[in-house]
Amino acid sequence: MASQTIIQTIASGKKTLSLEFFPPKSEKAIQQLKKSSEELTKLNPDFVSITYGAGGSTRKSTFDYAEQLKKNHDYKVMPHLTCVGHSQNELSEIIEQYQSAGFRTLMALRGDPQGENQSFTPHPDGFEYANELVAFIKSKFPNFEIGVGGYPEKHPEAPSQESDIHNLKKKIDAGADFITTQLFYNNHHYYRFVEQCRSAQIHCPIIPGLMIPTNLERVERFCNFCQAELPNSLKSALSTANDHPQALQEIAVDWTFQQIKDLLQSGAPGVHLYIMNQSKFMLHLYQKLKEANISFQN
Ligand code: FAD
Repeated sequence: MASQTIIQTIASGKKTLSLEFFPPKSEKAIQQLKKSSEELTKLNPDFVSITYGAGGSTRKSTFDYAEQLKKNHDYKVMPHLTCVGHSQNELSEIIEQYQSAGFRTLMALRGDPQGENQSFTPHPDGFEYANELVAFIKSKFPNFEIGVGGYPEKHPEAPSQESDIHNLKKKIDAGADFITTQLFYNNHHYYRFVEQCRSAQIHCPIIPGLMIPTNLERVERFCNFCQAELPNSLKSALSTANDHPQALQEIAVDWTFQQIKDLLQSGAPGVHLYIMNQSKFMLHLYQKLKEANISFQN
């Protein structure tokens, strides 16, 4: 396993490629993760991450799959951790467990409550905002590198982009090392966000988060949930190809390919792919990047 931290890798000039998995629940989904995580070793990602279920529901499985990804495939793994439903003592126990198992990077989040349209209520002995979790990790576990979430099109609860970036700065001031963004389909939002962050004295790496638009229904659902723009041209291309799997794959992969090409050329430190435990489109995308000589090397 590579011993460099993520920010050391970025500082070396290498563009990072990272992939996000989630802990599966059904037997079928477990097999899917097994297959994808095996097939994607071929991409040699700089790190992979594993999400933390809504409502703190995957405390054990996030840890178990983080271990499996590390042990079975030698991936560098960044587990996610959220404040939802946890007291400070519980958070401490969870982080200690990761520390003992040799993990050194965490994605620190406030998290979302379980069930749609619920509002977040902090645990009485826990935290209300991610910046508090970041400060807690840094004070008790200073050896951890910490990633936090950022929102190029604003967090849905934030009254304005300005206040959201002001709050993002609190996470960086508390000791976060880098930002991974929410997904976006229009790079313009990322470039504007980076500019706004730099003006607000946020100078850490900002890794763009992307999701291959594998079908219209899913993309509409995600964009709706995150309040991200779904460009008209993408929407109409996906709807035209909806019943043609091959054409759909070409359109979806090409959209993300063009996003990555432009992002890397414009100085993004790397890309993080929300792959939803699927490998097929990602493998195709990787092949396309390779053929275009777009590499993640120095
Ligand atoms: P915060 O940074 O705490 O922000 C939440 C809201 O509060 C924002 O509107 C912000 O502007 C405001 N705010 C922040 N700090 C303050 C403050 N000090 N005072 C006043 N207002 C403040 N969810 C999961 O459940 N599991 C996951 O694994 C997961 N992974 C994610 C990975 C990435 C890269 C991203 C971008 C999101 C992920 N999420 C995940 C979703 C995330 O939990 C939600 O978006 C959640 O609603 C906000 O989390 P946060 O850490 O950004 O919160």
